[in-house]
Amino acid sequence: MRTNHRIAAVLFLALPLFSCQPPREQRAEFFVFGTLVEIVLRGVDENSASAAFADVQRHLQAMHNELHAWKPGALTQLNQAFAEGRSMNLDNDIPTLIEMSRTMEDATDGMFNAATGGLVRAWGFHTSEYPVKTPPPSKDEIRRILSTKPSTMSIHQEGNVLTSTDPTVQLDFGGIAKGFATDRIISVLVHEHGISEALVNAGGDLFALGGSDEHPWLVGINGPEGVIGGLEIQTGAVFTSGSSERYLEQEDSRYPHIIDPRTGEPVTGLMSVTVIDDRRFRSKGWFADAAATALMVAGPESWRELAEKLELESVLVVNSYGEVLMTAGMEKRLLPAP
Ligand code: AMP
Ligand code: MG
Repeated sequence: MRTNHRIAAVLFLALPLFSCQPPREQRAEFFVFGTLVEIVLRGVDENSASAAFADVQRHLQAMHNELHAWKPGALTQLNQAFAEGRSMNLDNDIPTLIEMSRTMEDATDGMFNAATGGLVRAWGFHTSEYPVKTPPPSKDEIRRILSTKPSTMSIHQEGNVLTSTDPTVQLDFGGIAKGFATDRIISVLVHEHGISEALVNAGGDLFALGGSDEHPWLVGINGPEGVIGGLEIQTGAVFTSGSSERYLEQEDSRYPHIIDPRTGEPVTGLMSVTVIDDRRFRSKGWFADAAATALMVAGPESWRELAEKLELESVLVVNSYGEVLMTAGMEKRLLPAP
């Protein structure tokens, strides 16, 4: 394994966040999915925290290898099989992610579409190096990829055997994998380590668990130009999708890494979307993550309508003029930036 595939872990004790009787916190950081993932635990001793962090690291490494869209692994093999019209037997998380992606493709009228990996690659976004400087794909290339309307609905599963009836289906879980990973980590912490208070923060995309009225988790909402405001979360997900860091640059134009599956072109109109999903036991990182990506596609005209359809009360967007707009639910809870 090459060193850049490895996840670096740093363990250290937290400084108190609250002045009144702070809960004792244990922290660790891991570099994975191109992001720093920070885990904060409350109410556990150092030894239990170390054991939990070691387990988390193992799971993160496995998900990183399994779900990577362009480094050779399970997903690239599956995409190769689809392209060649072959079936593939898989016993890992990919079938679950396909199921979740399908749910979100359906719920967003195709604005979230994990089968458009061919377009993501054609636009040069299968890279860790930003900004991308390669030329945009030709109109013909985009038309060719879109001609079959690639969709996760073309994937069929029998037991662990996956087949796509459309060879242009190329899976890319970039819009949902971080959410899936936060859910997995929370589940490992709860079910394998008996932890009931934790924060998993993947570069501003996060899942908080077990905060209380007295000690909620305090998190910041990031906009294109820094922190927009703060939030108190007890249990739930906060995910932001945006175009400020990952884009293709050509002369004076910037093309963000989120593609409108209907046109094959990168989205325009919104710079970022933040979604809170803290409906308690119903809240899921994968849902919030995919919803934020879909709302970027919905754009300035339709984001409110899609948020309503997805039953998301708290959504904040920054439009291309830098204006911050939000739902009434978000307005009620947004705290001033620290
Ligand atoms: P996020 O930062 O969660 O919005 O995810 C963006 C990533 O999702 C991109 O880098 C692509 O890998 C992938 N992606 C781009 N457009 C879409 C889309 N319309 N639906 C689903 N995934 C997408
Ligand atoms: Mg997303």
